[in-house]
Amino acid sequence: MTEVLNGTATEIQTFQNYINGEWRDSESGNTFESRNPARTSDVIGNFPASSAEDVAAAVAAAKEAFKSWRLMPAPKRGEILKRVGDLLTERKDEISRAMTREMGKPFFETKGDVQEAIDTAYYAMTMGRQLFGHTVPSEMNDKFNMTIRRPIGVCGLISAWNFPVAVPTWKMFPAILSGNTVVFKPSEDAPHSGMLLVKVIEDAGVPPGVVNLVQGAGPTGQAIVNHPDVAAISFTGSSETGSKIASTAAARHARISLEMGGKNPAIVMEDADLDLAMEGMIWGAYGTTGQRCTATSRLIVHEDVHDEMVERIIAKASTLKLGYGNDDDTEMGPLINQKALDKVTSYMMVAREDGATIAMGGERATGEGLDEGFFFQPTLFTNVTRDMRVAREEIFGPVLSVIKVKSFDEAISVANDIEYGLSSAVYTKDVTRAFKAMRDVDAGITYINGPTIGAEAHMSFGGVKATGNGHREGGWEVYDFYTETKTVYVDFSGGLQRAQIDNYDD
Ligand code: NAD
Repeated sequence: MTEVLNGTATEIQTFQNYINGEWRDSESGNTFESRNPARTSDVIGNFPASSAEDVAAAVAAAKEAFKSWRLMPAPKRGEILKRVGDLLTERKDEISRAMTREMGKPFFETKGDVQEAIDTAYYAMTMGRQLFGHTVPSEMNDKFNMTIRRPIGVCGLISAWNFPVAVPTWKMFPAILSGNTVVFKPSEDAPHSGMLLVKVIEDAGVPPGVVNLVQGAGPTGQAIVNHPDVAAISFTGSSETGSKIASTAAARHARISLEMGGKNPAIVMEDADLDLAMEGMIWGAYGTTGQRCTATSRLIVHEDVHDEMVERIIAKASTLKLGYGNDDDTEMGPLINQKALDKVTSYMMVAREDGATIAMGGERATGEGLDEGFFFQPTLFTNVTRDMRVAREEIFGPVLSVIKVKSFDEAISVANDIEYGLSSAVYTKDVTRAFKAMRDVDAGITYINGPTIGAEAHMSFGGVKATGNGHREGGWEVYDFYTETKTVYVDFSGGLQRAQIDNYDD
């Protein structure tokens, strides 16, 4: 095992899809590779490049399993999810090590990722006893009105690579707790992590067909979105892919939840605790190498404390230890792949052309233990104005753009002057400003005196504007996405009662 985690194993494994409770190759036999982004000669394995045929088999299995799964009492489904949570707890270290090897973030971060999945499983268990409807008084005599929740059917789950266990579970656990069955496609950049999650599902005794795994890239995801028997689609990824999926799904009236990109602001006012704010910027901007949808990518700072904040961030960020995330002292891992490295690198030119200053970093990180990976230095842009591309576009790397403002009102205006609206943070000791920020920042999440990252599994998660389409993951609200409301009227009067008519004689 140690050999495998350190990337020195020589035998390359081939992995399979999981359909109707069986591990299977793709029909075509085609595969793709997953590699360690910190040590690119380390091949994690080969995974099925699934076609529409494989997707159809998975959807058929899910459709069949739905017939009995929807009838199992929700508290019993909750008990199965408890076992899933227990097994994830047992395997937490093992899975986290494998995730770090596959997608690069340090071990302490992948452990957090798995813990979020565990929390989501236990929360789902409790929801098995809380799939509430409403009972509401009727306007008629001897009549009883209520709403109940029903599962939808087969749900297609398509996820990004950066939270390769937590994010799929935000979708999968509420979906199956509610009585749906699922076809899950992990990101092609984290197929092994997705497979390890599904192995837990199998070992916990989730019945065959309830959770199906199909590996592959965009075309596999597209086949899920196109399939007429997939009643709901939950997607996490870029806004660009989300738009494509939304138009296909809308044409066939499928329910769809989209969680997409961000360009998250952290406002630091002149009355803030600057040590706290600095720590928040380091974790928010450079944690997960800036590859979080909630990463802090804009620091909007009051002019009185601008220079001091910049100095403090540079002093701390330049000490961050880059390396392979399974090494004990690593604080920041690599970018996910060559494409991401090229994209982040290209923004250095964009920054220069726009007139921003690269105050720290700006280059691929090299040196001992780094040359074989997609490492990039923690980077800080200063002299950024709100209209520059580096202030507006999601870079998805360890890059923070600093925008100087003169007042709190200007800070809010800059924070909102953006197409995205996922997370936000405000550092201030002034309670009035804190409440104004809660009310006025256009985002799905606002942290007061905390960084833009730090979602908890039992709280609703999602964004506004180009980040989302009005649904939420996490917490109680995600259960609204995975259930349909049925309204039920029970008339026990023994006669015909006509609503809106019989009670209102003129
Ligand atoms: P991506 O859009 O490239 O891919 C996401 C998923 O969509 C992958 O599984 C991919 O295979 C699949 N896909 C690609 N084309 C498809 C198509 N035409 N039809 C169906 N599926 C398709 O995103 P990524 O690079 O994996 O992830 C990074 C992005 O995800 C960033 O923009 C980040 O902000 C966002 N993200 C958002 C959240 C959130 O909750 N808001 C969380 C994590 C990541």
